[in-house]
Amino acid sequence: MSSLVNRAVTVTFVASLAACTTVPRTAIKDTSKTFTTVVVDAGHGGKDNGAYRRYGPPEKIVALDVAQRLERNLRESQLKTVMTRSSDVFIPLNDRVAIENSQKKAIFVSIHFNDSRRRGIHGFETYYHSGTSAELANRIQSKLMTIPHSMNRGVHTANFRVLRLAYYPAVLVECGFLSNRSEGNQARDAEYRELLSERIAEAIVEQRYGPGVYHASPQVAAAQPQPASAGSEPTPPAVHH
Ligand SMILES: [Zn+2]
Repeated sequence: MSSLVNRAVTVTFVASLAACTTVPRTAIKDTSKTFTTVVVDAGHGGKDNGAYRRYGPPEKIVALDVAQRLERNLRESQLKTVMTRSSDVFIPLNDRVAIENSQKKAIFVSIHFNDSRRRGIHGFETYYHSGTSAELANRIQSKLMTIPHSMNRGVHTANFRVLRLAYYPAVLVECGFLSNRSEGNQARDAEYRELLSERIAEAIVEQRYGPGVYHASPQVAAAQPQPASAGSEPTPPAVHH
């Protein structure tokens, strides 16, 4: 092939790429800085257990618990929330997307735990599909990385249906591997699940309102050791489920 032809092919290719970017491929609304509602999606449920391993409870149970804690933490930060499920029921993926897409100015955050045949694999992963979701995904991942001994498995794009069909920014968070002894055991611990939800909530509030706005809920404050001279504020009772 002559260099002239080569160049012509290149130009055509670049031109078609440019055309792609100007065509609205879907009606994704960039509400990543303006959202008022967070659709919290607990992965799996009902007949769909999700990951089911010896070291932890079924994924559907721990994902629901983290999602409910996340919802409470977001409400305390004055964000509206919608749960795709609040109990151990099966919700088809399309219904989850429909719940999100019927909101005004929303984002979608799906909570999952991971699974691997190789028990040594551990760490957090966050997934997104549209570019408008990238910042939120990165923010959630970096907040999770502030948890002691956490392992960063990265932020990735994925073609998951709940992400691909979303009209709004949408992310899916993998909160550790139930197939790993350490992370599976942590997933059994309510205080650890609260910590996960706190970090995700903090990332979401920061995404919307900027840093320094989020305040940890009393549940986490109570879980941390308080200095003896902590002042006159009474420590709220810890909530155990
Ligand atoms: Zn899952």
